[in-house]
Amino acid sequence: MSAFVGVTSFAQISEIKSSVDRVEEKVDSVLQKMTLEEKIGQMVQYNGSWDLTGPASDKGNKEKEDRVKKGMVGSMLNVLSVEATEQAQRLNMENSRMKIPMMFGYDVIHGYKTIFPVPLAETSSWDLEAMEESARIAALESAVDGVNWTFSPMIDVSRDARWGRIMEGSGEDPFLTSKVGEAKIRGYQGEDLSDPKTIAATAKHFAGYGFVEGGKDYNSGNIGIRELHNFILPPFKAAAKAGAATFMNSFNTIDGIPATASEYLQRDILKGDWNWDGFVVSDWGSIAELIPHGIAKDKTDAARIAVKAGSDMDMEGGAYESGLKSLVENGTINENILDDAVRRILRVKFKMGLFDDPYRYSDAGLASEFSTEDHLNTARDIARKSIVLLKNEQQLLPLKGDENIAIIGPLADDKDTPIGNWRAQGEKNSAVSVIEGFKNSDFSGSMSFEKGVALGKGERSFLMPLEIEKEDRSGISAAVEIAKNADKVILVLGEDAFQTGEGRSQADVSLAGLQKELMDKVFEVNKNIILVLINGRPIEVNWAAENIPAIVEAWQLGSESGNAIADVLLGKYNPSGKLPVSFPRNSGQEPLYYNHLNTGRPSNPQHVTYSHYTDVEDGPLYPFGFGLSYTSFEYAKPGISSASLTEDGTLTLKVSVTNTGSVKGKEVVQLYVKDLVAKIARPVKELKGFELVELEAGESKEISFEISSEMLQFYDGENWIAEPGEFEAMVGTNSAEVQSIKFELK
Ligand code: BGC
Repeated sequence: MSAFVGVTSFAQISEIKSSVDRVEEKVDSVLQKMTLEEKIGQMVQYNGSWDLTGPASDKGNKEKEDRVKKGMVGSMLNVLSVEATEQAQRLNMENSRMKIPMMFGYDVIHGYKTIFPVPLAETSSWDLEAMEESARIAALESAVDGVNWTFSPMIDVSRDARWGRIMEGSGEDPFLTSKVGEAKIRGYQGEDLSDPKTIAATAKHFAGYGFVEGGKDYNSGNIGIRELHNFILPPFKAAAKAGAATFMNSFNTIDGIPATASEYLQRDILKGDWNWDGFVVSDWGSIAELIPHGIAKDKTDAARIAVKAGSDMDMEGGAYESGLKSLVENGTINENILDDAVRRILRVKFKMGLFDDPYRYSDAGLASEFSTEDHLNTARDIARKSIVLLKNEQQLLPLKGDENIAIIGPLADDKDTPIGNWRAQGEKNSAVSVIEGFKNSDFSGSMSFEKGVALGKGERSFLMPLEIEKEDRSGISAAVEIAKNADKVILVLGEDAFQTGEGRSQADVSLAGLQKELMDKVFEVNKNIILVLINGRPIEVNWAAENIPAIVEAWQLGSESGNAIADVLLGKYNPSGKLPVSFPRNSGQEPLYYNHLNTGRPSNPQHVTYSHYTDVEDGPLYPFGFGLSYTSFEYAKPGISSASLTEDGTLTLKVSVTNTGSVKGKEVVQLYVKDLVAKIARPVKELKGFELVELEAGESKEISFEISSEMLQFYDGENWIAEPGEFEAMVGTNSAEVQSIKFELK
């Protein structure tokens, strides 16, 4: 039997090997025939939101069109319809000499038409299968429109709620971010990239973008080498291993070197140590941005630095297009460097099957393969899994379903904010609002609604600065009136859709505008408030946490937001989400994260000379991994299979978890590890495993985690090592409530 298995797997391996060899042969045969100009063309990506279907009246467009016809453009992004994609590909395929198909990229971040929760929200589900499924649906819907490459997943670990783009990632933990990144890549790329239902993924932003100083977007990152390897790079290493077709570099500097210009990141680590064979696309214009960074004097100089560093494709920056030719001709850059970049780009195109069918989207009849209704059902399911119950006192939740409720707040009837930023083709005002969610449900009580105050003012969109309403209090008294007569108030507050996302960093992450004032006034007349938060980043809700009996973190949940929120508030779904990021008591605590290093000055309440702020209680308001349920779970004492493990062995940690409440529920059992004494300072704890387990009322299950020496490794400045010595394994319901058990690595 085992011999038979061996032969089969050997045959499989040789099949894989020969298909790799075939791709490499094809790549070489194309590359050999290419002129220098054509090679440079492959390294150029154009923004395509210009009208390729009509007469190209504007000069810039005409020039771009001519270059597409000459095969001088490797890829386009933002070509926004299947017709325009087809048109652009035809211009290229029917006129160019080499007939190398273009790739069409787009930011498909949390859905395409069916919009799923923003990534930070979706991560709160800790449900990897669900996240893979939403990526698979996003791939299918976008492939129908001609997209064959998404600039997702964003796997920038971020510890700073002030950073506007924290909504696009998976929060503060490298292990959780790695797992989500892998799931997303599987969902987008499927088993085989040449399947027209799949799209190529991009692991971004490589690297350090989530660690910008002060959480200010595009700012510099002062990141130490150990911090880089231990906290920032692990999700990228996992993505490279999972076969992400492309990587995107990033806008920030690390210790003075722009990531786009970093040979260390792109060549030494990604393409060297990790032996990854895809290509790196720059971030939007990030090659030309080496000029304002002050390390290049002009575009040619920027092209020289970036190409040497290993940036393979120039997104809409114009530096490669204008600079590379002279650099090769005058001998500054060896053509081999371009060959490596082009080989990588062609390799991805071959793997995607584009040479066999450049129009694969329109030929495949994909649209008939799905129903929008099914996709919306999946979106509702993952939206409710993403909701985190933060507080539930006085048994305010779940609602009984027949009470007299007042729904109040600027986001209660908002059909746009749940769609969030980076909404691809999600239509404006297309989400189910909270009010609609209740109307769609079997809620039989009475319901009244008042907005109270507005949040954002006027038209809002991706690039437009956001204006927050700060003056108009005229709606507050009507809101107070309905609150007076209600059994319970559902207060829906949070952030505007465009308060988070690119360029949306904030110094203060408390509730914006007049929302706190509205909350105070309503609280004066009715204390039975359920605060529902709709937001893209952790926000400061310290006062609410102290005074309001129930708080539900509903994030920006996408198309089905209101239905999902009603499901949870009415107890149709028992909340199971857990925070992937710490919630601060005060914006000034940011960056705030659970896996910090100890200082030499541990807490000492007798004395002020320890690491803390004097004006705010230490630690988060809600810790990483935190989330409640309508039931309760009890953890028994954990046990381990052995008190020690060797370098090539494992040990098993077991813990029994019981649902001690009266309804079925899900719990995310979390495993953390601490290295007690190491040659460098190590985090107080680090997530190393988790399991999402569903338990009937009264049911117990034993959960096992395998601990291996690999899990204990860290980067010491030169190498990844696991040092013999004592460790602590911690298991529990969130990062702050754990039981620990010691073991030794021999
Ligand atoms: C963002 C990227 C995005 C690109 C293309 C940039 O501004 O940083 O994340 O993929 O634009 O839209």
